[in-house]
Amino acid sequence: MSDIDHEQEEKIEIIEIPNKYLTVPSKRPEKVQNYNKNYYENNKQSILEKAKQKDHCEACNCTYQHVNKKKHEATVKHQLNLKIKNLEK
Ligand SMILES: [Zn+2]
Repeated sequence: MSDIDHEQEEKIEIIEIPNKYLTVPSKRPEKVQNYNKNYYENNKQSILEKAKQKDHCEACNCTYQHVNKKKHEATVKHQLNLKIKNLEK
């Protein structure tokens, strides 16, 4: 019995993965990354202020945070209100 069990055992080979496959290569060159980082550091205050800034949507008659502009514009509510507003013109 034990002999059969032993034959059925799966052989697991351990393969070593070369280091170069373990690190995820960055899509952006280092120069660009540094530029973006520096830009953010230098303009942190204004970027954050702009992000917190409230925008007003005329179509929906509501306010939303500037950072959520894309999100708001993608909502069904906004799309419908925009269509209605365009029809009224
Ligand atoms: Zn809207």
